[in-house]
Amino acid sequence: VDRPASLWAMIADAVAQNGGGEALVCGDIRISWHEVARRAAKVAAGFAKLGLNPGDRVAILLGNRIEFVLTMFAAAHAGLVTVLLSTRQQKPEIAYVLNDCGARALVHEATLAERIPDAADIPGLAHRIAVSDDAASQFAVLLDHPPAPAPAAVSEEDTAMILYTSGTTGRPKGAMLAHCNIIHSSMVFASTLKLTQADRSIAAVPLAHVTGAVANITTMVRCAGTLIIMPEFKAAEYLKVAARERVSYTVMVPAMYNLCLLQPDFDSYDLSSWRIGGFGGAPMPVATIERLDAKIPGLKLANCYGATETTSPSTLMPGELTAAHIDSVGLPCPGAEIIVMGPDGRELPRGEIGELWIRSASVIKGYWNNPKATAENFTDGFWHSGDLGSVDAENFVRVFDRQKDMINRGGLKIYSAEVESVLAGHPAVIESAIIAKPCPVLGERVHAVIVTRAEVDADALRAWCAERLSDYKVPETMTLTTTPLPRNANGKVVKRQLRETLAAGQAPA
Ligand code: ATP
Repeated sequence: VDRPASLWAMIADAVAQNGGGEALVCGDIRISWHEVARRAAKVAAGFAKLGLNPGDRVAILLGNRIEFVLTMFAAAHAGLVTVLLSTRQQKPEIAYVLNDCGARALVHEATLAERIPDAADIPGLAHRIAVSDDAASQFAVLLDHPPAPAPAAVSEEDTAMILYTSGTTGRPKGAMLAHCNIIHSSMVFASTLKLTQADRSIAAVPLAHVTGAVANITTMVRCAGTLIIMPEFKAAEYLKVAARERVSYTVMVPAMYNLCLLQPDFDSYDLSSWRIGGFGGAPMPVATIERLDAKIPGLKLANCYGATETTSPSTLMPGELTAAHIDSVGLPCPGAEIIVMGPDGRELPRGEIGELWIRSASVIKGYWNNPKATAENFTDGFWHSGDLGSVDAENFVRVFDRQKDMINRGGLKIYSAEVESVLAGHPAVIESAIIAKPCPVLGERVHAVIVTRAEVDADALRAWCAERLSDYKVPETMTLTTTPLPRNANGKVVKRQLRETLAAGQAPA
């Protein structure tokens, strides 16, 4: 198959290759690639009827369900840009994204209606389309249109999706994923891992993240295989589905593999069909790799290092090399260049540790409507990862640590600045520092050291955060103190010292 020119062309290819084959499975629903294309073209006609024009932004606030995929490809057909929201986001976070991207329509879970800001706070949003199992839902009305005849003309360089990522400045930035970025990444996964239409994958990570949207959805479109969508990840249910559906390919975060291994009846499942276990988003403990190897002999584990800005993978570890290079995240993906930069802005020789910079056809051009952040994070097409790593003589890439002030909670990223700025808004808080607390299953958890000026308890501060931040960003443990935070000569908080104090066992609230 030739290289498709747009996301819609990928769907058309899947129909041509395997139209009658099982495409999506979710609960009791099973639909073919032909049916995915037909329903997406119907929704595309509905979008046109609403007056949405190519280039307009449609935000998606949906959990893992078939309508997520249909909306994504309906937008592709109509030339619209989808903006992916997480169902864990709270009202202020949702309002920020809808306004920043200028969304004209929002496709949302009917059950999350109360999470959507008032009309006055999101003046550009003209249409709210609720999705539910009700045959009279607004989404069902869109599905009632006859399929739109021809897909809108798009250029490969056009933005197909915007995914918001946070950063050191606190406010999230909209990473613009172009059609060509997504197509390239999907082809890298499918060709490197030799996926075919016989492959069956489970999407148990959130579809609204780059791993779900690209490593799972568009990669399975590319190979015209089957994607089993799980509404949420529960290890016991996951193992049942993996065995029943004869899963062969997965990409998920290390914490999900850890949780599967913790299931007492793990050995009772027949997982012999599972041949590729991609993992990324966070470091995988060596013990987890070794235990999976021992328990599922046919499974090749493939480390995959990437980010939203690289449209998922920038390295992949060939499964057969994992055991010999257990501390490496793999080799640069076909066409990817990875260089290591020193603190003085000069490229370092092989083997030395510095910031990883990545350039490839899957690296995005920049952030939506944010030339400043784009200029700060990209140079000559290279994305500055903020990760500290090295590349050895044989090209194996290693990731050791990070420069960015971020917590990695089982693959979900929490930028300290965002949580610290929410805490700063509380009247009893003088200052705070968000730090990682090590966790054997999730890798890291969110801990807050908070300097207070008045009597306030940890629960009140947690409730304050929970109203304003996604649940996983809310500090799980806190140290409340009246002592100022330790600072260095430049006035910067010395988080290393706070982490050491925490490790030394001061009782957190
Ligand atoms: P998703 O949002 O779908 O979870 P993601 O984790 O790949 O995708 P980001 O949230 O943008 O993307 O986070 C990227 C960061 O995650 C990287 O800069 C790095 O710090 C960390 N990371 C990603 N993959 C790995 C890996 N294989 N090993 C270690 N760290 C990783």
